[in-house]
Amino acid sequence: KLYNQVQDLKGSIRVYCRVRPFLSGQSNYLSTVDNIEEGNITINTPSKYGKGRKSFNFNKVFGPSATQAEVFSDMQPLIRSVLDGYNVCIFAYGQTGSGKTYTMSGPKDLTEKSQGVNYRALEIRNSSQTGLNVPDANLVPVSSTPDVIDLMNLGQKNRAVGATALNDRSSRSHSCLTVHVQGRDLTSGTTLRGCMHLVDLAGSERVDKSEVTGDRLKEAQHINKSLSALGDVIASLAHKNPHVPYRNSKLTQLLQDSLGGQAKTLMFVHISPEPDAIGETISTLKFAERVA
Ligand code: ADP
Ligand code: MG
Repeated sequence: KLYNQVQDLKGSIRVYCRVRPFLSGQSNYLSTVDNIEEGNITINTPSKYGKGRKSFNFNKVFGPSATQAEVFSDMQPLIRSVLDGYNVCIFAYGQTGSGKTYTMSGPKDLTEKSQGVNYRALEIRNSSQTGLNVPDANLVPVSSTPDVIDLMNLGQKNRAVGATALNDRSSRSHSCLTVHVQGRDLTSGTTLRGCMHLVDLAGSERVDKSEVTGDRLKEAQHINKSLSALGDVIASLAHKNPHVPYRNSKLTQLLQDSLGGQAKTLMFVHISPEPDAIGETISTLKFAERVA
């Protein structure tokens, strides 16, 4: 096997956290993040949440100055295990505006340096045949990274976007890029098939019922339901529960073969540093703590 080190890692579920930097014009804000160490993040909590500090542990925490290259290099062994025939799921979780899309794809004004995981991960193929599968779409054979990027742009355009009070570019849908990889074990000559799902989840924020109504409210409740169902599945796997409730959401049904068993999962939670995001920040960290 080419990437033995990956198989030696304990457990098949890992949880990462990334805090985005303040955006331009926000330099006077005081961050809610008090301290970051390798796998630990400490948050300043206001009186509403029991004034003080609260610490959370993860497999890895990336601070505001972490680069896309640093983040990717940490994820690379996991992504490479696809070539060894493993199924891999990577989820970006967090409230709208916390940096999920930045991690998975990059910023709007994309440069080579700011490219996210989606762009970098496809580079891992060697001579194998590669296919791309977008749910509810066709399996499209691709032979090069630019082909995949064209398809990703198409998917982005098709993505449902609804205006909310929080962000008019808010993603009210999950976006999933699936890559099927066929590799050959160079020593034994056997064919290995792996599959990688890169999922940019819909925003995890709770909606205020006074702000949205009708279809928008139904949609928001649906999103919250599917995110908590995903949390339930990963928590069950992490705690090795005999029953894993895959059937409670479309998302977990769709990804069932790549969640659990021999598959590897990375839940990558994102938080915003602003004081007014503290409520969502705490609920995101609690979500992550539950699946770890
Ligand atoms: P989400 O997908 O969670 O809604 P975005 O990825 O769109 O959030 O990020 C919100 C804004 O913050 C965007 O303008 C994005 O470019 C910026 N941003 C997010 N993460 C970072 C980061 N690590 N470094 C610099 N800018 C970031
Ligand atoms: Mg987004």
